[in-house]
Amino acid sequence: MSVPSVLQSYIAGQWIGQQPAVALRSAIHGQVVAHTHAEALDFQAAVDHARHVGVTELLKTDFQQRAAILKALAKYLVGRKEELYAISAHTGATRNDSWIDIEGGTGTLFAYASIGSSELPSGNVVHEGPVVTLGKSGQFVGTHILAPRRGLAVHINAFNFPVWGLLEKFAPGFLAGQPCIGKPATATSYLTEAVVRMMLESGLLPQGAIQLVIGGTGDLLDRLNGQDMVTFTGSADTAAQLRARPHLLRHGIAFNAEADSLNCAVLADDVTPDDAEFDLFIKEVVREMTVKAGQKCTAIRRAIVPRQHLDAVAQRLRDRLSKVVVGDPAIEGVKMGALASKAQQADVAQRVSQLLAAPHMSLVFGERDGFAPRGQGVAEGAFFSPTLLSCAQPMNVQAVHDLEAFGPVSTLMPYDDLDEAMALAARGQGSLVGSLITKSPAVAARVVPVAAALHGRLHILDSKSAAESTGHGSPLPYLKHGGPGRAGGGEELGGIRAVKHNLQRSAIQGSPDMVMAVTGEYVRGATLIEGGQHPMRKAFEDLQIGESLLTPERVISAEDVQAFGDLTGDTFYMHFDEEAAKASPFGQRIAHGYLVLSAAAGLFVWTAPGPLLANYGLDTLRFTKPVALGDVIRARLTAKRKIDRLKVGADGKGQGVVAWDVEVTNQRGEVVASYDILTLVAKR
Ligand code: NAP
Repeated sequence: MSVPSVLQSYIAGQWIGQQPAVALRSAIHGQVVAHTHAEALDFQAAVDHARHVGVTELLKTDFQQRAAILKALAKYLVGRKEELYAISAHTGATRNDSWIDIEGGTGTLFAYASIGSSELPSGNVVHEGPVVTLGKSGQFVGTHILAPRRGLAVHINAFNFPVWGLLEKFAPGFLAGQPCIGKPATATSYLTEAVVRMMLESGLLPQGAIQLVIGGTGDLLDRLNGQDMVTFTGSADTAAQLRARPHLLRHGIAFNAEADSLNCAVLADDVTPDDAEFDLFIKEVVREMTVKAGQKCTAIRRAIVPRQHLDAVAQRLRDRLSKVVVGDPAIEGVKMGALASKAQQADVAQRVSQLLAAPHMSLVFGERDGFAPRGQGVAEGAFFSPTLLSCAQPMNVQAVHDLEAFGPVSTLMPYDDLDEAMALAARGQGSLVGSLITKSPAVAARVVPVAAALHGRLHILDSKSAAESTGHGSPLPYLKHGGPGRAGGGEELGGIRAVKHNLQRSAIQGSPDMVMAVTGEYVRGATLIEGGQHPMRKAFEDLQIGESLLTPERVISAEDVQAFGDLTGDTFYMHFDEEAAKASPFGQRIAHGYLVLSAAAGLFVWTAPGPLLANYGLDTLRFTKPVALGDVIRARLTAKRKIDRLKVGADGKGQGVVAWDVEVTNQRGEVVASYDILTLVAKR
């Protein structure tokens, strides 16, 4: 795939754009890569298409099917990744920088495919229990569900991650059944256009699932309603401007912001220049300055170090920075590429000047230290020297905590004690991420809970975690990305949380039968289906939620307890020592909880081979009352939840997950044990 000379928007199923407008230039040598298109877009048509076609088509599939589509899409894009790498080179990215963007993006699709498959039900309603009983007889209960909104998401992204930026927002929204309109930053929109083309060419996506806007969003945001949402990544200024848009406020339209932040790394004062952790700190700062040429929202802008080690830190950073080869990443040995555009280059230069003009500031390393980017035509590119500043009195200079130079720029800040280090970290007024480099668990326990109030993520680095650490700057699909205050106050990723952000949570009240019908899950108190075949003999498709079996009774005798103790070695005094048990809260010997559990299994299990393939765990197990020797127990087993994960066993037969509700009661009808059993059940 090559970049078309005029980029196109994809609106209401049509690629639009023939006439060139703004020229987008290579970050390496300034030559034109592509143009945005001049044609105006019909944003009402885009919104209508998402609502009427996108929502309808997406909701013809369920969570599990969409998870499977995400996986197939990830595989498809991986198969074409080299085409994306080739285009990404124009952004000034090294191979490693592009890897973060491109394979970070497909990796996020894979991660959400797996999260969807393992954590979401079949169907399009998530039941978020527990069910609470609201009336005396148990016929009025309440719970929560999460249901797809009947609207769209507009994803507005920054220029630095043209692929990952879109995919990390697209994946959870898609799982949630929400169509989207992607709006990449103009400067690098040629790469986002390429990935959206591929997504559509895959033929995997339901119609209307994704649209693309190249250029401005015009009045798009004013055409949204309360079912829609806007997710924004970019500068704090743009976030503030968009968030305050009267239309969004008036209609309660959800707005999630990921803004720039002045992230810090703190070198704790237990670390000395001879420690491995000292070098880890140096490496981390250099890496964050140079990866993506420092154009990462998570980059370390403030390196907070013990005053007595300031000179040693500065010297080691200078040594390392002087070895960073800057230039055209196509040239072997180049370690740092260019900023994304000339405009960015000018912006970063201006911010560095502003920072240097503040009191107590000095330059530790910069352009004067032999900056000479390699490659042909690089004078017309957007290269910028790694630039390390130092601020001697950081508690007295607010600019270093406010001004973000979105490039390979960081500032050293000395502190006198850990309290001052924490106060400096807090001056950032809310960050996406902070790193603490320490050898001491006590320091971590002291610093992290305080710093957590101001950070979306905290990364604790020492020599034990170093080899496996994913680093300060990497948002991970399973961990939350987003920070408070200055960082935008939003949340993205974090595993299943991101999917839930895109769904609407609603409290449901009614009888157990009604709640069961809505959630698709058995609720205690609902009408049972009894008297047919043993439920564990039924194939996945034939089993109905609510099918139930009440077992015969059995006595739990002293001999049973003795035999269980002999077999397992569990001879805890409560089960065997008459005298000691008398003094216990139960006042007598009681049976092992696990004996009750095992005896219950013996009561309800269907022993012959059948569709039940495996029991892979228990959930929500509680022993609610003691079972005394001589008590009589019985169990009720009820099909609670079915999930069709679209899995096929080694024999080629389909299989699904069934969760069974189990209640074990005693001779007085009191519940003594309660749990869910998780099983795999074969299809017909
Ligand atoms: P930006 O100028 O704020 O732009 C971000 C996005 O907003 C772009 O797509 C831009 O489109 C769009 N935009 C600007 N004005 C708009 C408006 N009035 N209506 C609708 N959309 C509008 O930021 P940037 O220069 O692209 O990105 C760099 C900044 O993003 C840095 O400050 C960085 O820290 C931050 N960032 C944060 C994160 C995070 O996850 N927190 C990630 C990456 C970057 P155009 O390009 O067409 O103007």
